[in-house]
Formats: sequence, C-alpha cells, structure tokens
Amino acid sequence: MTTTTKMGTALITGASAGIGAIYADRLAKRGYDLILVARNQSRLAALARRLRNETGRSVETITADLNDRVDLARIETTLRNNPGITLLVNNAGVGAAAPLLNSDVEKMDEMIRLNVGALTRLTYAAVPGLVARGGGTIINISSIVAISPETLNGVYGGSKAFVLALSQSLQHELAQKGVRVQAVLPGATATEFWDVAGLPVHNLPTAIVMSAEDMVDAALAGLDQGETITIPSLPDKAEWDEFDAARRAMSGKLSSSVPASRYGIKRSRMAAS
Ligand code: NAP
Repeated sequence: MTTTTKMGTALITGASAGIGAIYADRLAKRGYDLILVARNQSRLAALARRLRNETGRSVETITADLNDRVDLARIETTLRNNPGITLLVNNAGVGAAAPLLNSDVEKMDEMIRLNVGALTRLTYAAVPGLVARGGGTIINISSIVAISPETLNGVYGGSKAFVLALSQSLQHELAQKGVRVQAVLPGATATEFWDVAGLPVHNLPTAIVMSAEDMVDAALAGLDQGETITIPSLPDKAEWDEFDAARRAMSGKLSSSVPASRYGIKRSRMAAS
C-alpha cells in the first residue's frame, strides 16, 4: 500500500537503466512517487515493481521514445497536467565516442534531438507549472564534456554544453520564483552509455570511471548542498568557482562599439559618425 508523499512526484527520463535507474531508486527512498520514462517497457516494469515493493511509493511507467514527436508530446502533456510533479530529472541521453568527422550526421542529428531538443521541450512543459505552484526542482544531466569538448565526440560535447548553459540561464531566471535548477556534470560513469557510444567502458582506465551509484549519490549530495553545478569527480570545488568567476568577470566587456585594439581596426564611418 502506498502512503501520501510530501515530496511529490519525480518524473525521470531514461529511467530504465544506468544513471536514471539509480535516480529512481534514490528518489523513491527519499519519499518521492515516481513517473519513469524510457523505451524499454520490461525494464521499466521490473524497476517499478521492485521500487513499489521496497519503498511503498507509487511508481508509474510510461514507455516513450523521446525522439518520436508523438511520444514526446505525451510526456509534455503529463508534465503540464500533473500538479503533483515537483521534480523533473532530464537524464535520457546518448553519446558518441568517434571523432566528429568520422560520425554519421544522421546519428548526430538524432543525438541533438534527444540530448537538446527533448530536454528543452520537457523543460518548457514542466517549468510554468512549477512556477505557478511556487516551487520545484529541475535536474539536468549534462557531462564534463560540456567544459571539455575536446574529449569524446564534439557534437556530444556541444549538446552537453547546451544543457549546462540552459541550466545556468534557467537558474538565473527562476531562482526568485522558488524553482531550483541543478546541472550535473558526470565524468565517465560505468553504464551501458559506453556500449551505445561505441566504446565499451572496460576500455577506459578504471581510475577515471565512477559507479553510477556513487555518481548519483554525490549529485544528490550536491543538490542538498545547494549547488547549481555539480561535478561529482572534481576534488576541489574552488576550481569550478574560479572558472565560473572568470566567465562572469568578462561578461561586462563582451560587447562594445569598439573592436579590441589588438585587431588594429580603424573605426568605421558608422561607428565614428
Ligand atoms: P544508459 O545506461 O545508456 O542509459 C540511458 C537511458 O536513456 C536509458 O534508460 C535509455 O532507455 C534512455 N534512452 C535512450 N534513448 C532514449 C530515447 N530515444 N527515448 C527515451 N529514452 C531513451 O546511459 P547513462 O550513462 O545512464 O546516461 C544517462 C545520462 O548521463 C545521459 O544523458 C548521458 O549523456 C549522461 N552522462 C553519462 C556519462 C557516462 O559516462 N555514462 C557521463 C556523463 C554524462 P531505453 O533504451 O529503454 O529507452
């Protein structure tokens, strides 16, 4: 029997495996009811059954391919119409390990539609309700390649840089409206992601690979600590803070009527007049 939850409902995309399945486990244990989304119905059903038994929480599953517009629209509708939803975990994503120019552009397009397009539409569907209800949380799973685009495939890195920038911008816009946004930047994590990306994880040095359990536990600890950006592997948070401070310090100097003197440009007639 399930009991009423004060935490509300968490909708997790890509919950059938890997990082998303661990979020499902941890959030159910924190007292959230769950809506689990992915394509693999039997995996979702098995996870839902286990979590219902272990935690007594309500766990719903929705089979959906987020690269399919009709399926995606169904999840958007759920996010718009279910006022019990307090947390969205935008986790579903795919990667690629092959260099940019060795990759099939159709696969790259598919990746952008999932990692960027679906995540954006689901965020747009969730945020107005959270704002209207005075609070809620969005967790966006980015990656360390967002700030290290030379690692792995460049389109994958670009898609995760989008997730980071969108999260920073959303946090800026929503902080005063009671909605929290966290971007999580995992390093290499031991999941099937690497099989899908074409480089099984056993090819990586074990010293750089974290378990999905540790990654999610660290990310949730970062959320509890109020972090907007969580990089589970980075030993010294001050390094991120300095990087972010350098970016912010430049922001007042990035737009000007005058080209920087190092370019040696004589002022144009329009600018001079
Ligand atoms: P994973 O084990 O392969 O899990 C990916 C999840 O996304 C699965 O549940 C999969 O389920 C779902 N999914 C994939 N395509 C989908 C689609 N078209 N529609 C709906 N669901 C879809 O990989 P993971 O490592 O947990 O990845 C989760 C997130 O972490 C991704 O955004 C990834 O970019 C990010 N990340 C991973 C690593 C890493 O090293 N593993 C590092 C940094 C960031 P179905 O197949 O059932 O649909």
